[in-house]
Amino acid sequence: APKISARNVTKVYETASGHMTAVDDFTLDVAEGEFLAIVGPSGCGKSTFLRMLAGLEDVSSGQLTIRPGTDPKTPLNSVVFQEYAIFPWKTVIQNVAFGLQMRGVSERERLDVAQGWLDRVGLAKFADHYPHQISGGMKQRVSIVRALANDPEVLLMDEPLGALDAQTRVVLQEELLRIWEETRKTVVYITHSLEEAVLLGDRVVLMSAQPGRILEVYDIDIPRPRS
Ligand code: ADP
Ligand code: ADP
Repeated sequence: APKISARNVTKVYETASGHMTAVDDFTLDVAEGEFLAIVGPSGCGKSTFLRMLAGLEDVSSGQLTIRPGTDPKTPLNSVVFQEYAIFPWKTVIQNVAFGLQMRGVSERERLDVAQGWLDRVGLAKFADHYPHQISGGMKQRVSIVRALANDPEVLLMDEPLGALDAQTRVVLQEELLRIWEETRKTVVYITHSLEEAVLLGDRVVLMSAQPGRILEVYDIDIPRPRS
């Protein structure tokens, strides 16, 4: 069975001037361990689709499901947004450990897991720094590993590298690929960059500006660059 199943998913917003169809009849499966990139122009409904997957927005019609895993304590999803949604009053390691607090993991174990993730992205030395003391790229690394530390069934990312400069973005793209190859986490990744979608995605969904339609789905089987 697919990890994510979308069947005729439609989202209609009620606006002052009437109805607005943001996602129109979206049908797609995502396999366990797949990295799905969704690309399309601004306003085509990418974020709306992701917010519905995250449970932050209701589906107007159709079915959208994430298949749960065997451990009922495992969260279905974790989301990474473009703006680093990390707590400024917590240190780097406290931010990463925070998600696990919800799951009744002991403090010792939370900090061990968080430290392990910080090591993997070169942030070990910054564990006790506060967000304002680290760069934008590092903050986004913190957001990403905080989501991964939860070990969610699916990782949802909405333009996670969109606010970074070009050089930092390339570094983080390589890191994301490496982590994905190590974890084989099911990922849905939104971007407006076709280049980024093709670089990162196993499969790329191209959405059309005519709100919320899937234009084409591409399988990407070109070799990925390695650092
Ligand atoms: P994208 O992420 O591709 O830029 P969005 O999903 O944010 O697109 O938006 C798709 C369309 O739905 C846009 O026309 C946007 O203005 C509209 N939209 C998004 N959220 C709302 C909302 N809460 N109420 C009304 N319209 C919305
Ligand atoms: P993105 O392109 O990443 O979706 P937006 O700036 O389009 O970002 O949307 C940011 C927020 O504004 C979202 O929560 C979305 O629901 C809301 N929004 C977007 N368009 C509209 C709209 N036309 N009416 C009301 N809310 C909107």
